[in-house]
Amino acid sequence: MTESRLRIARLFGIPISIDASWLLIFALVTFSLATSYFPARYPHWSPPAYWAVGLATSLLFFLSVLLHELAHSLMTQALGQRVRGITLFIFGGVAELEEEPRRALDEFLIAAVGPATSLALGASFFFLGWLAPTVHVQAAGRYLGFVNVLLALFNLIPGFPLDGGRIFRSLVWAVTGSFTRASRIASGVGEAVAWVFILFGALLALRGLVFNGLWLAFIGWFLLNAARTSYRQVVLEEALKNVYVQDFMRRQVPLTSPEETLAGLAERILREGERAYLVAADGRVLGIVTLKDVRKVPPEAHPLTPVVQIMTPAARLRTVSPSATLWDAFRLMTEEDIHQIPVVDELHRLQGLVRRNDILRYMQMRSELGQL
Ligand SMILES: [Zn+2]
Repeated sequence: MTESRLRIARLFGIPISIDASWLLIFALVTFSLATSYFPARYPHWSPPAYWAVGLATSLLFFLSVLLHELAHSLMTQALGQRVRGITLFIFGGVAELEEEPRRALDEFLIAAVGPATSLALGASFFFLGWLAPTVHVQAAGRYLGFVNVLLALFNLIPGFPLDGGRIFRSLVWAVTGSFTRASRIASGVGEAVAWVFILFGALLALRGLVFNGLWLAFIGWFLLNAARTSYRQVVLEEALKNVYVQDFMRRQVPLTSPEETLAGLAERILREGERAYLVAADGRVLGIVTLKDVRKVPPEAHPLTPVVQIMTPAARLRTVSPSATLWDAFRLMTEEDIHQIPVVDELHRLQGLVRRNDILRYMQMRSELGQL
């Protein structure tokens, strides 16, 4: 997903964001409720009533989607794992978990609580619509009851990474005892389901239902990508968890001193082809300076600026220990959006450096050797 998100709230410590694409679907749902769905079923309302009920219904629909994702997130937290955040986007919502569930049962509970929440919401809205004294609330309740049940059923389709696919994976995992194998099987089924969506959508479009057909095909395309990406993520995580930083890191670390000027450093960058230098004095790491940092200073100031002025100081530096796994290092680099991470022992002595590019090249080579 792109970085066009807006943070709107924080619930139970979980950041809630909306993606720019969500505004489009929100407007579309509100518009079609106010101009087509409600007018077709309730022809005698005033125009402002259509818009008011349409807007309120649309908001409650997306609140329902949020509650569905919140249910996944709270279950994840209850099982002792962290949630990065919830984002609403054009196809609904997504709760990003920090890492894969630890046990098959955890995965089952985290996946199943979403559709269960939507079903409970659907029943509540039907009940509310049935009890309500005014026709407007009845109409909204009926619609919201219907879409929440639909949301639950759609999510129960056994195509990974939909909830149904995750439930399926947890069952295969429980039976085979292998998370990687379960992921491969579930992703394969997920891809097959995605292709059914795409083909069925194309068929509908050819039959004249262009919008619905394209929409279905679009969802299928999204699911196809998601199934492939999630599987690659699993392979990456499994592979990197079995390698230790001390066996992988570069022990020859590019070093510079605090008083070296940027002009001198720039010359070395060109000659040595390195993008990051650790700043050290007397065997201690003082910070790190990268090509990106150098670029922020105008070239005419390079001869007069010492490295110490622009480096990221050691206090703000993320490091890993030699006994950490490559997965720990990779995750930290992804989270912090950094390209390299110094390896230090418990006495804060520099042992080496892990670079993201080296990890990616390593994975590429393992894949070419048929090891993944
Ligand atoms: Zn879900």
